[in-house]
Amino acid sequence: MSEKSEHSHKSKKERLPRQPMPEQPPKERIHNFKEVPFGYSPEQALAEASRCLKCKKPGCVPSCPVEVDIPGFISLVAEGKFFEAAAKIRETNSLPAVCGRVCPQEDQCESGCVLGKKWDPVAIGRLERFVADYDRLHGSFQMPPMASPTGKRVAVVGSGPAGLTLAGDLIKKGHEVTIFEALHEPGGVLIYGIPEFRLPKEIVKAEVNYLQKLGVRIETDVVVGKTLTVDELFEEEGYNAVFLGVGAGLPVFMNIPGENLCGVYSANEYLTRSNLMKAYLFPDYDTPIAVGRNVVVLGAGNVAMDSARTALRLGAETVRIVYRRSRAEMPARAEEIHHAEEEGIVFELLTNPVRFLGDDRGWVKAMECVRMELGEPDASGRRRPVPIPGSEFILETDMAIVAIGTTANPLIPSTTSGLETNKWGYIVTDETGRTSKKGVWAGGDIVTGSATVILAMGAGRKAARAIDEYLMSL
Ligand SMILES: Cc1cc2nc3c(=O)[nH]c(=O)nc-3n(C[C@H](O)[C@H](O)[C@H](O)COP(=O)(O)OP(=O)(O)OC[C@H]3O[C@@H](n4cnc5c(N)ncnc54)[C@H](O)[C@@H]3O)c2cc1C
Ligand code: SF4
Repeated sequence: MSEKSEHSHKSKKERLPRQPMPEQPPKERIHNFKEVPFGYSPEQALAEASRCLKCKKPGCVPSCPVEVDIPGFISLVAEGKFFEAAAKIRETNSLPAVCGRVCPQEDQCESGCVLGKKWDPVAIGRLERFVADYDRLHGSFQMPPMASPTGKRVAVVGSGPAGLTLAGDLIKKGHEVTIFEALHEPGGVLIYGIPEFRLPKEIVKAEVNYLQKLGVRIETDVVVGKTLTVDELFEEEGYNAVFLGVGAGLPVFMNIPGENLCGVYSANEYLTRSNLMKAYLFPDYDTPIAVGRNVVVLGAGNVAMDSARTALRLGAETVRIVYRRSRAEMPARAEEIHHAEEEGIVFELLTNPVRFLGDDRGWVKAMECVRMELGEPDASGRRRPVPIPGSEFILETDMAIVAIGTTANPLIPSTTSGLETNKWGYIVTDETGRTSKKGVWAGGDIVTGSATVILAMGAGRKAARAIDEYLMSL
């Protein structure tokens, strides 16, 4: 192609608008737990894929922590080869249907897309979701290339995105892999935290099922550190290496008066009841959940948005997000904030709770708050919120959900010899995930603190490479 015709070819593509994703209207979706966006049709996917410039030096790939061959899979979509596109993504990403839904693409692959400089970036996440869904619904299982068995055995503790990714990579290298999971369902936060309307559980189950077809064994209801210890995994169970992908699921509270009143939930308990224990389907399922009329959610990350939108769907009349900084500092994904706003969630920004007030039965009935302003930047680089004296006010509420973060559970470090942790209780590793204990690697939230699905997966991939080298050197 001549330079001139290549240029006009590109310009034409650049002018194509980004394909919107159809979704359930807000008024309808606040009454159900069904997924909000419907996903692309094949025609929309073809149109969107045709926008990609197939750059020689793509900006998108270096911005993807698991290094998906993005132009490669998009070219296959553009040719209508959807199954081949799915296989291409799976070369480096074991959970494409999950990533296509919950990854913060605007900060990752799409932030590097060259089209984004002048126009809208290619909708890489939506295409990934389309391809993974198409493959799940229409494809037949294809065994990827598998190495011959090495006779080496790896125990993976925790079945979140870090553990699942690592398991997928190591089974393909010929090692025997068993995942031990404390809960009765594998998937980690994908199953117990992220609600159905954002990530349908059948999708997580299908991704887990794919790994099982590759030969990964999963043992649920095993709490490592209680049922058996890490040392016993080596000494009694005969594993050659252990990966700790146990996440950071211990709720953090505000430590303010009244926090132990009835009706004050941690987001962790609230979402686990609703998602994992299916409380939103009570009484068909056994676990109940309180339905607040006027609900407040403390915090402004993805967990807070999920809690607020769950409360709304469970029947709350008003739901307020109470956050001590301003909109610019809200940590949730842009899409989640947008969806929450569309659904009528009210944002009380620059507001901090001071204490909860209870009624004579010990139930929360109100929250005292103080208005804040932003001062000088603190250690995190964000402007520090400072209370405005005399601005206290009362917010009536009959349910509060505390979603200000989670931290490391001390169970495994306290029952494992020679495992170094830092002052916050997170496991210390080198850049490959190797811990201070021989044969033990760790990755995901238990190393970094609460982060993202894709970063946990990236950590799983790095550790898998290092464990493979270690096992082959034994
Ligand atoms: C409500 C919510 C919404 C989120 N939304 C997003 C989002 O939109 N996008 C995004 O990228 N990220 C999101 N995140 C963050 C993301 O889910 C996490 O960063 C990611 O799941 C971390 O993966 P992980 O594998 O390290 O751990 P986890 O997913 O936490 O999995 C750890 C697993 O280990 C198990 N386990 C723990 N201790 C033991 C033990 N002793 N023995 C056996 N098993 C054990 C746990 O039961 C759990 O299943 C969200 C998190 C939450 C809580
Ligand atoms: S940077 Fe954008 S246009 Fe270029 S290959 Fe990646 S997705 Fe396509």
